[in-house]
Amino acid sequence: MGQAKRRKDAGERLSHCRTCTYCCSLPQIEALAKPAYSPCTHIADGGCSIHGRPERPGACAAYACAYLTARLANAPERNRIPHPLDCGAYFHRDPREKLIFVFVDPARPFLWKASSLLVDFLRLQVGAGFVLFITDRGRQMVIRDPGTFSEILARDFVALADREGRALDVPSFRVVGSTPPA
Ligand code: SF4
Ligand code: SF4
Repeated sequence: MGQAKRRKDAGERLSHCRTCTYCCSLPQIEALAKPAYSPCTHIADGGCSIHGRPERPGACAAYACAYLTARLANAPERNRIPHPLDCGAYFHRDPREKLIFVFVDPARPFLWKASSLLVDFLRLQVGAGFVLFITDRGRQMVIRDPGTFSEILARDFVALADREGRALDVPSFRVVGSTPPA
């Protein structure tokens, strides 16, 4: 849900987001009654068809993922956060509550683990006390320590949980939203 769906003339955002639509497709957006893993019906021609109109939810106008936020602010960490399309995932960070929310592309669920840029960045954040909420193929894992983060990287907990019909190893592992398309 986000600035991904910018006006066509919002050139800076457009160039930063490229063709990404993750934040308008992967999460559940209550204000739009949009289920998870379902593209928003307002995505049109690489932009948001209701941009600037009152029916556009405030949450959309306010949103930018960590990649876009760092680029727009020209923040020092801008080169340490990969573009979502290059790592198959996007995230946003709440520095006040020390929370990070990661959304994994269900069509490429393992790509983020192969992105040393993203893995290194997230590992550092966990080491600094941030809690990660990783939403992957309809399940959410909550990671509070570097050891659990390493376990998540080494094993496909989503496949294990799906296969065995139960949550495995990660205490706060749970099902979220709707099931992503196969
Ligand atoms: S309303 Fe626009 S910005 Fe919000 S999710 Fe839909 S396309 Fe994206
Ligand atoms: S996830 Fe980030 S890069 Fe992708 S559309 Fe949303 S704001 Fe743009």
